[in-house]
Amino acid sequence: MQVPFVDLKAQYRAIREEINPAIQKILDDAAFILGGSVSSFEAAFAKLHGVKYCYGLGSGTDGNHLALWGLNIGPGDEVIIPANTFIATAWGATLCGATPVFADCDLDNYNLDPKKIEERITSRTKAIVPVHLYGQPADMDAILAVAEKHGLHVAEDCAQAHFATYNGRPVGGFGIASSFSFYPGKNLGAYGEGGAVATNDPDLARKFRMIRDHGSEQKYYHEVLGHNYRMDGIQGAVLGVKLKYLHEWTEARNRHAKLYRELLTGLPEFALPEEGSHAFHVYHLFVIRTPHRRRLQEHLQQSGVSTGLHYPVPLHLQKAFQHLGYRRGDFPMAELAADQVLSLPMYPELTRDQIEYVADCIRGFFD
Ligand SMILES: *Cc1c(COP(=O)(O)O)cnc(C)c1O
Repeated sequence: MQVPFVDLKAQYRAIREEINPAIQKILDDAAFILGGSVSSFEAAFAKLHGVKYCYGLGSGTDGNHLALWGLNIGPGDEVIIPANTFIATAWGATLCGATPVFADCDLDNYNLDPKKIEERITSRTKAIVPVHLYGQPADMDAILAVAEKHGLHVAEDCAQAHFATYNGRPVGGFGIASSFSFYPGKNLGAYGEGGAVATNDPDLARKFRMIRDHGSEQKYYHEVLGHNYRMDGIQGAVLGVKLKYLHEWTEARNRHAKLYRELLTGLPEFALPEEGSHAFHVYHLFVIRTPHRRRLQEHLQQSGVSTGLHYPVPLHLQKAFQHLGYRRGDFPMAELAADQVLSLPMYPELTRDQIEYVADCIRGFFD
């Protein structure tokens, strides 16, 4: 049996009757950039995340940058970022001319460890960017408490966590700002690049809106510095259709996670993902941990099961950040995770047979 890591074609086949005319309409209307498809998606997405303002962007990376740009983060400032995340989280601070300052994670949930934040704060620290990694909300009560104590902004990276909740509230509205990605493989994926930035603050919302569109609200009148971070009309149309299915797809991910968990409990030297009691995990990724990661991955590959590594190198050890002077040993939990995590196939269209097959292969390896 072949079990791909994700299967974007299966999802397209299921909704093509609805998607194709939505795309055709954008072509007929020549509504290629922003426009009605994007604004109606923005409104629907904001509502579902309980935030007042949401703006469609060209990518999630744009969101990481724009969130901090709108907060006036700049040269001389420091921004605290988890050491184990996708690198785009750190581009936000970097592109603003600020310095990303890494902090270690909690091995139970792979998210930023709130107890490790304070030791990274200096007089230059301006913001914390928690990531709801793999689809599980970070410990927001504790993070917001540290932020408040030190007067720091919190900008959530929700790229992997559409519809995830913490204490029953959706992610994206805990910090002053938040960013989302609609990269095709994300829980809500465009048919190309896409992202969003969100906030409840009307002044910040206005800045986001202007910076996204060359610093202007009125064409050719530029009030502030800006960039072109606009979402395409086609992506707005695709996302508008797909948003209606996201609850269903999220439930399917949760069912798959539950089945994996049932089939894989009790293995030695094998850690299943832990769910925090306050967190609703949306399983962008189903990530296990084992010291035998390399051999298990090879065994699965030979059995037709594709897996992924999220992520093999923590940010403080990336060559791109070598000028920051970090060393192996600085963030032991993030380093251990990088060496031992393995992401199993996870997407809504996975079948029970496929999951049972993956679990059998894993059990076979440990026997
Ligand atoms: C995917 C991702 C991003 C970047 O999103 P793009 O849309 O690919 O630019 C940022 N942060 C995290 C945690 C991500 O997983």
